[in-house]
Amino acid sequence: MKINGQTAVYGIIGNPIRHTSSPAIHNHISEAMGIDAVYVPFVANDDLAAVIPGLYSLGVRGLNVTVPYKSDVMEYLAGVDEMAGRIGAVNTLKYTEKGYYGYNTDILGLGRELDEEGISLKERDVVILGAGGAARAVAFLSALKGAASLTIVNRTEEKALGIKKDVSAYADIKGMHSLAENTRTLSLDMIEDLGGKDYIVFQCTNVGLSPRDDECVLNDEAFYKKVAVGVDLIYKPAVTRFMKYVEDAGGKAVNGLKMLIYQAVSAYEIWNDVRVPESVVSDIERELK
Ligand code: NAP
Repeated sequence: MKINGQTAVYGIIGNPIRHTSSPAIHNHISEAMGIDAVYVPFVANDDLAAVIPGLYSLGVRGLNVTVPYKSDVMEYLAGVDEMAGRIGAVNTLKYTEKGYYGYNTDILGLGRELDEEGISLKERDVVILGAGGAARAVAFLSALKGAASLTIVNRTEEKALGIKKDVSAYADIKGMHSLAENTRTLSLDMIEDLGGKDYIVFQCTNVGLSPRDDECVLNDEAFYKKVAVGVDLIYKPAVTRFMKYVEDAGGKAVNGLKMLIYQAVSAYEIWNDVRVPESVVSDIERELK
């Protein structure tokens, strides 16, 4: 990579940031596509009122935003995309003449992973484990893709209720009244109350993330018998305890690696107005594995 006075600078802000794979992905794409750009990590502090205008003044062309700033950053932007506004979180900022404009490419990335895996949410019953930022994006994606029902299961049920309220309102606006009626919450310790079968389940908690590979947010055998497809948003380890439970009960399981790659690819495409070739995506996947 050759950096000169015309090289466009991109980056990621968050704290901590040292484990991020984003610089490797973005710099690989730029090199593969011959685009004169460099992507670097920025450890931010909580003073976003200084951080965001500072990076903007320096002409940083685009930023990814990660934990813990995905929601707090929104008040410092010139505008946000409609879906990102509804989710209440952005992870991608694009430089515009008026300031940074925010997008949520987590939802785009997960959508692309599901398409590639042949997992359709249309008319399906979806269960979401967790009620943090990622769970929010999954809940809106489920609505967008025409899920029949949505059950949000969380340790702190109050947070699940917040997502239910926002998704139901969105579903009503879009005329999906049946989904609005069939969106419910459940506290994690009441999981035995979940009836039904053939669920598509999204594991959206931090439990099971490396190095705590052996942990899982739910260890109830009866629950896994109701799971047709389990998607763990975690990608380290590559096969989580949750995925093993799903497979042992006869279901299909996938991890969050493609979501990670496609959220980066989607950000790259928004910034540069290009389409990243599939061959480049496959190279990245091979390298990250
Ligand atoms: P977050 O906002 O901090 O939410 C964390 C969730 O995990 C909350 O619902 C929390 O429950 C739950 N949780 C944490 N510890 C728990 C425990 N011991 N028992 C039960 N529940 C527990 O995090 P996030 O940003 O949504 O991220 C969630 C996961 O998704 C992370 O593992 C992250 O790596 C992954 N992720 C992957 C991608 C990707 O590209 N593949 C993108 C985004 C996120 P409470 O509400 O009760 O605290």
